[in-house]
Amino acid sequence: MKEITIQKPDDWHLHFRDGDFLAETVPATARCFQRAIVMPNLMPPMANAEMVLAYRERIKTALPTGSHFEPLMTLYLTNSTGLDDIRQAKAAGVIAAKLYPAGGTTNSSAAPSDLATMTPVFEVMQEVGMPLLVHGEVTDSHIDIFDREKVFIDRYLQKIVQDHPYLKVVMEHITTAEAAQFVAEASENVAATITPQHLLLNRNDMLVGGIRPHNFCLPVLKRNTHQEALRTAVASGSHKYFLGSDSAPHEKHQKESACGCAGCYSAWSALELYTQVFDELNVLDKLNGFASCHGADFYGLPRNQGTVTLVKETWTVPEEIILLNGKPIIPFFAGQEVHWRVKIND
Ligand SMILES: [Zn+2]
Repeated sequence: MKEITIQKPDDWHLHFRDGDFLAETVPATARCFQRAIVMPNLMPPMANAEMVLAYRERIKTALPTGSHFEPLMTLYLTNSTGLDDIRQAKAAGVIAAKLYPAGGTTNSSAAPSDLATMTPVFEVMQEVGMPLLVHGEVTDSHIDIFDREKVFIDRYLQKIVQDHPYLKVVMEHITTAEAAQFVAEASENVAATITPQHLLLNRNDMLVGGIRPHNFCLPVLKRNTHQEALRTAVASGSHKYFLGSDSAPHEKHQKESACGCAGCYSAWSALELYTQVFDELNVLDKLNGFASCHGADFYGLPRNQGTVTLVKETWTVPEEIILLNGKPIIPFFAGQEVHWRVKIND
């Protein structure tokens, strides 16, 4: 197949950041996605409806003229999240709440230190119909970084799902065979997003022949058997898995550093790279479900009306992008060839 048309897709997990980043990140995603779920891990974290709505306005200001892109906003769960915070967020149109493991990723120090204390919050979320989005990793210093996702499932996620059978739970950016299996075997209220980097790469792509800081993200890339399990999961066409790029920029100096930040800025190539993966797997017929249907159906939102046509043509991702403040970001796949390109977008 040399060309494919899908319904207009959505990105169910990404980071726009704030300030000078928005003029770069918002148009990059709005170029081909109709909606995106925007993560709340800013400094300070977006921990109540008022902050989230103000953030949504800043995002909308950064949209290109005439764009119909819709940011879907999330609430950051902290140690001090109250039941009224959930109810007010729901009433304000906030789509979901995000649970970070304390210290697990960028700006996550405000996250709850003891998940047992979150039970009343999860109960209200279940009651009002607010999905729980989970960064599924433990952060105990003695747990090996490559095992943190599986330990989180065994220690916490099984129980959260069991105790709140009507709570919708999305395990974000899954990276292991165990996570793919957990989601496949869980109820209809449990789903997962999968990033392009976890489908395209494994830990060798980060560590062999020198450290590649721009392939460093969290949860970290795993061994190739896990990459294969994720590829098998998306190739199955299961409605449990959907597109969430986890596009997450940092300025170049924050990644190329003695202690580099986690995150891949994939917004300019994510849809194209997913298409490339589905093509490699010979399942281009499953792309529409993954990119444009499964997520909307899970969240109970209408599927989009427009379409996007991709054509099999090779192009090269730019080496760097300059932010409004003059500082560079290195995009995911910088300087590398991508074999699909967005041709028509209506
Ligand atoms: Zn993320």
